Amino acid sequence: MLTVDSTTNRQGGEPHLKYFDYAATTPPYPDVIRTMAEIMEAQYGNPSSIHGYGERAHQLLRRARSGCAAAIDVKPEEIIFTSGATESNNLAIKGAALQYQSRGKHMITTATEHASVYESFVQLQQWGLEVTWLPVDSDGLVNAQQVMDAIRSDTVLVSLMHVNNETGAIHPIAEIGARLKREAPKVLFHVDGVQGFGKIEAKPAEWGADLYSLSAHKIRGPKGAGLLYVRSGVELTPLLSGGSQEQGLRAGTENVPLLVGMAKAMRMAAERQADFAQRTTILRDRIMDVIDTIPGLVLNSRKEGAPHIVHFSYPGMKAEVALHTLEQLGVTVSTQSACSSRSAEPSRVLLAMGRDNACAAGGLRISLGDEHTEEDVALLEQALHQMVAQLRPLERRM
Ligand code: PMP
Repeated sequence: MLTVDSTTNRQGGEPHLKYFDYAATTPPYPDVIRTMAEIMEAQYGNPSSIHGYGERAHQLLRRARSGCAAAIDVKPEEIIFTSGATESNNLAIKGAALQYQSRGKHMITTATEHASVYESFVQLQQWGLEVTWLPVDSDGLVNAQQVMDAIRSDTVLVSLMHVNNETGAIHPIAEIGARLKREAPKVLFHVDGVQGFGKIEAKPAEWGADLYSLSAHKIRGPKGAGLLYVRSGVELTPLLSGGSQEQGLRAGTENVPLLVGMAKAMRMAAERQADFAQRTTILRDRIMDVIDTIPGLVLNSRKEGAPHIVHFSYPGMKAEVALHTLEQLGVTVSTQSACSSRSAEPSRVLLAMGRDNACAAGGLRISLGDEHTEEDVALLEQALHQMVAQLRPLERRM
């Protein structure tokens, strides 16, 4: 029989493994799964239908929208539901580029964004727009002055992630948002909030963000559900043609059960954020201190970063070899971000931070969730020591 436990991977039939890859995805809360299953079974109406089934689905959707909005302190009508942050990021960036063509064709981002932002900008360049890729420092950060210096009279949008998904580096979003609003109020500000929400304080409206993306499955909600906050007054050109759902910005029948699940997970994440940060920081610092003492390992994350991510390199060792060795020792970690980890390329993020190829090809990410304990971390520490002891002779031969 399959049992559900949120930190071990029992559903996958691997009860011996501890899961340390919460930045890739998280196990949905049992309560979220139950709610979604109930709605799938009993409330299958189309929220656009005007009969009773539709009306009940519409009410659920309305409540989900209010719940999501409350969790990030914005208005319900500013929430556009999507299939996840990949779609939200595409809609924000390409939707703004298309909508504000008459304002200009210049956009600003960094070299370390998630693939869904990075590749959106690459596509815009292919369409003839100009993109400034801001360099980051050795901690993976940009500063507000760099952003302001890159603004031109034809700049339409600045897009930055709140927390980097590989290293946990936190961009000074509030400061950048405030300066943009003061010094360049016409420039739209998009924030990819996926790795920040629920982990550190997230107040997109207060920061002055015009657009803000989230994905439910990073906060113990379901996969395939996300949102884009679109500040009142900001217009976007939709990327999908079809019905008039989501104020015409995202055609297609809304997935009511998943969106209700997302609202529930967002409420829990918002309520628990301060506690999460406090508990997880203690565990994260312990992991960082251990990595610091193991010869051959190099930390790429800082204690000033997000509380749930520790990134380190084992230069000279292929990351996937280290990952599989750790898996044999009972712990699951990640190479790069999940979306890029099947690629053989060294991490684009680490290269942008000035790390060499050996470091960028030997990077591993440990990411924590709300249920990890000191015992879990002790197991991880032991596995890290054993991994290095096992692989060091191999390293000498390489
Ligand atoms: N942005 C960031 C920072 C992410 O970490 C992710 C997920 N890896 C995404 C966007 C995309 O989210 P999804 O895969 O749920 O669309």
